[in-house]
Amino acid sequence: MLGQMMTTPLLISSLVEHAERYHAQTAITSVNTGGGVEETTWGQVGRNARKLASALHGLGLSPQARCGTIAWNNRRHLEVYFATSGAGFVCHTINPRLFPEQLVYIINHAEDDVLFIDSTFVPLVAAIRDQLSTLKHIVLMEADIGDAAGHLPEIIPYEVLLARGDDGYDWPVFDELTASSLCYTSGTTGHPKGVLFSHRSTVLHSMALNLKDSAGFSAMDVVLPVVPMFHVNAWGSPYACAMVGSAMVLPGPGLDGASLVALIDRYKVSVALGVPTIWLGLLAAARDCGTRLGSLKRTIVGGSACPPSMMTAFREEYGIETIHAWGMTEMSPVGSVNQPLAKHLSMPAATLHRLRENQGRPPWGVELALVGENGNRLPEDGKTQGDLLVRGHFILEAYFHMSTEETLQDGWFNTGDVATIDADGYLTIMDRSKDIIKSGGEWISSVALENIAIAHPALADAAVIGVAHPKWDERPVLVAVAAPEQEPTETEVLHIFEGKIAHWQIPDRVVFAESLPRNATGKVLKRDLRETYKSLLTS
Ligand code: AMP
Repeated sequence: MLGQMMTTPLLISSLVEHAERYHAQTAITSVNTGGGVEETTWGQVGRNARKLASALHGLGLSPQARCGTIAWNNRRHLEVYFATSGAGFVCHTINPRLFPEQLVYIINHAEDDVLFIDSTFVPLVAAIRDQLSTLKHIVLMEADIGDAAGHLPEIIPYEVLLARGDDGYDWPVFDELTASSLCYTSGTTGHPKGVLFSHRSTVLHSMALNLKDSAGFSAMDVVLPVVPMFHVNAWGSPYACAMVGSAMVLPGPGLDGASLVALIDRYKVSVALGVPTIWLGLLAAARDCGTRLGSLKRTIVGGSACPPSMMTAFREEYGIETIHAWGMTEMSPVGSVNQPLAKHLSMPAATLHRLRENQGRPPWGVELALVGENGNRLPEDGKTQGDLLVRGHFILEAYFHMSTEETLQDGWFNTGDVATIDADGYLTIMDRSKDIIKSGGEWISSVALENIAIAHPALADAAVIGVAHPKWDERPVLVAVAAPEQEPTETEVLHIFEGKIAHWQIPDRVVFAESLPRNATGKVLKRDLRETYKSLLTS
């Protein structure tokens, strides 16, 4: 032996154990589902997580039993995250915005033994209860039962279950490759597919998220995950925050701009994470109430492309930095984060701002590749577009109950995104491969057109789709939602594009809609729009 270092498995329990011990006084602020705000600490969350873990053993669950959650971002949900995984069970977060048939499919496919639900979702679960074939226990994430027992006779209140637990419970030690949590992807076709994370992948993802060139949470931060805990584990923020002892503000069910502004100002939030549509609402509310959002230093924006106009608004109106990130459920989710390199700091400010608009570069642990139609590697020159493949420490190898062969392509995961990568690894997502517009042999990025459209004050929302065209195969059509009290004409909207892109990329038509159809994670359902407008350019 030349010498050796200690090895202990990389377990999620080590994250909450660290927070409980070394950040015991750090605040966890939680908006209750029924109203009101509860203030607790990492010390209390850690103790409760251990107690709940012991109570779950008392239910007689087998190792790796799936414990579903249908819940907002709140203190109890945080405890359930650590209790279930830490005890060797699997925390299965479920998106309540799915259709009931999809919920039934997911809960049965995951074979959930237990469901933790917020009071909001009692009617939803009651309506499908008789179809949930594996479910044995339902826990209401409240102190009291209220009128939930009238809908679900077997339901027990969280605090009653917790009281059965043992304060002296110690976290068990097991293999770091054990499954820890499960999320289903809300695909636009076919059944949702399960992505099963391991303890090891989660701990490594937390480290990658906490790098200074990534989200870089610290013990000095107050972190507001607006992204739901049912959307890829709130992008891994609960684990990463426990790792460094950041304070957290968990916003509960109220995700409107005014509620978020109030939380940010009252609890001095320094970092917030969420999808672009949330920030549009927040900016509007901030302008209305005249706040300076003084504590907020940075927003981490991902899930769909962040419009450059939003970054400008945050920067110029409020002095807030926007960190644009890209990822997907299959990547835990972080795949790239836009942070500058030392050489960029001498650039003129306007050039640096442009550079911050793309999806950024991969953190340690993620490798990117671009391939063409035949799987041939393409140059990473910032210009060539190709299918984006990924591999790394926290990237999916096989979907739940599927094989590696069904999931991977020569050892790489195909993201389904079309992108360019430059020599420094900066990624620009052009589109989902099925959404890119193929016009006369040239590709047009719907995202680029949407970014231009959304910057216009007369428009509240915009989506660009490819519509069949007799001469060019497909041409872009803009589906636009007018801003309140605005009535822009088609010609006015088309004028927005003049001088900003090549003439042949300008949409052929603009159609106005009341709102855009979105899936359960807030992404625009372009397939539905394509169906609605499929004959627009041919009839
Ligand atoms: P999900 O697994 O539901 O989070 O969806 C992942 C997909 O969202 C990716 O494959 C991208 O198409 C899209 N996406 C996520 N972040 C971004 C971003 N910053 N810019 C553009 N698309 C994004």
